[in-house]
Amino acid sequence: MRLQDKNIIVTGGASGIGLASVKRCLEEGANVVIADIEESDGAALAQKLDAEHSGRCLFKVCDVTDTTQVDTLFNDTQAELGSVDAVFNNAGIGGLCPSDELSDDDYLRIIDINLNGVFRVARAALRVMYRQGSGSIVNCASILGVFGQSQTAAYTAAKGGVVNMTRTLAIESAPKGVRVNAIGPGYIDTPLLDELDDEMLQGLIALHPMGRLGRPEEIANAFLFLASDEASFVTGAHLLVDGGFTAGKS
Ligand code: NDP
Repeated sequence: MRLQDKNIIVTGGASGIGLASVKRCLEEGANVVIADIEESDGAALAQKLDAEHSGRCLFKVCDVTDTTQVDTLFNDTQAELGSVDAVFNNAGIGGLCPSDELSDDDYLRIIDINLNGVFRVARAALRVMYRQGSGSIVNCASILGVFGQSQTAAYTAAKGGVVNMTRTLAIESAPKGVRVNAIGPGYIDTPLLDELDDEMLQGLIALHPMGRLGRPEEIANAFLFLASDEASFVTGAHLLVDGGFTAGKS
């Protein structure tokens, strides 16, 4: 088992890419904490997954916009499981809007979850992992961290920030035994895409040379690699998992 006995936190773990990653980690022998804002669904989900796997699956409420909740998540997990070996800093939201119509509130909300939230979680993880002298943090970025796209000013600003913040965190933490990487998914078939109409979706699919959306499990596999000791010499990377989207046009 590739993650045997590792303790892993997945933010936004109750849906989409996060949920697929939770399942993949459990399959590989890890104990996993689902951290999400949705309490009732999350608790039932964790109970079900816990019963189906040898590793433990716990649920903890955590809104990544709340520093106290984030710090409590890490302190409680360390107290309960003994360590935090890897984190998938995955919670995020979409939000399409032409830039001239984007309100302060909507702009700031996307930045607060998708960028500031990633920092809050990474900072809490570093504090625990520095004490341990080991750990792996994986931030969820996007192809929209390296490409622009109309109606996504806040989202692209946040994801671009995540890509470059990952490099700084990796440089700071490498001497302390901690690795920090990012994953850049192409368009993945999750509830995040529900706001797209069919025409937009078909247009986006056409931008992937593989001619399809990615599956959440395909991002989970990238997380699994970066979280595991197989990636022991990988830090500061932005691993694009995008069906060729960023390779260019055919
Ligand atoms: P989902 O909407 O399926 O999952 C996101 C999860 O994060 C949900 O459970 C959501 O809860 C939760 N969440 C939202 N806000 C917060 C918060 N403040 N604190 C904690 N949890 C929160 O989306 P995906 O699985 O698609 O997205 C996961 C990550 O992947 C995001 O960072 C996204 O930007 C990134 N990504 C996704 C792509 C895609 O095409 N799907 C492409 C590139 C990157 P709730 O459902 O209650 O809102």
